[in-house]
Amino acid sequence: CGIVARIGESDEAVDELLAGLDNLEYRGYDSAGIAVQRDCGVDVRKRAGGIDTLRNALAAAPSGGAVGIGHTRWSTHGPPTDANAHPHTDCLDDVAVVHNGIIENYQRLRQELSRAGHVFESDTDTEVIPHLIESALADGAAPAAAFRAAVDRIDGSYAVAAVIGGRKAVYAARNDSPLVVGAGDSTQYLASDVPAFLEFTDRVAYLEDGDVVRVTPSGFTVTDADGERVRRATETVDWDP
Ligand code: GLU
Repeated sequence: CGIVARIGESDEAVDELLAGLDNLEYRGYDSAGIAVQRDCGVDVRKRAGGIDTLRNALAAAPSGGAVGIGHTRWSTHGPPTDANAHPHTDCLDDVAVVHNGIIENYQRLRQELSRAGHVFESDTDTEVIPHLIESALADGAAPAAAFRAAVDRIDGSYAVAAVIGGRKAVYAARNDSPLVVGAGDSTQYLASDVPAFLEFTDRVAYLEDGDVVRVTPSGFTVTDADGERVRRATETVDWDP
């Protein structure tokens, strides 16, 4: 239901992701989770229940990082359990994905991936995405191309964001579901709605349906549904945080 991402150089992703999730609480949710990117792999923490349940789990076993994604889930496929909470991962725990919306063709994709040996851990439609990325990476695609290949296979409504181990970037896309970039100086943000990151930056760029974006600490690049580089202008919003 709500997505937030933080892409920076300093080790503050966990605190800023939790702040972003607090700011998205008004959208309603039943589970919450985050993933931070590591040199090797991704570190995922997720819980059914409120953001405080997630915060308590993190207090007991801290995580940290500079680049990460966060999610508040409003279940559509699978009950609200820890396993069904986002982020979802691939078999190698090298890719983590958060998603708002519904993947209409997930059953067919899940069957195809299962036949190819992928093991699923949740009941969600979302989980096909990290496995599609994993499969493209295994075929030799570079991360941005692997993310694009996965997005090209899914039908439905989605805002989706991914982190990949060893890559200081967040890859994201939208179709029929909102997604906004928050542009800072050396830290960038992404979210389903501006209030998520308004306490960190008031410069925003609205993405359009079909857009795929790669966000690094220094900025973001957008390609449209045809894979062409496009410019999405940044504007300053004058809302009160
Ligand atoms: N369809 C996904 C799920 O049930 C995402 C729901 C959402 O938008 O939060 O996990």
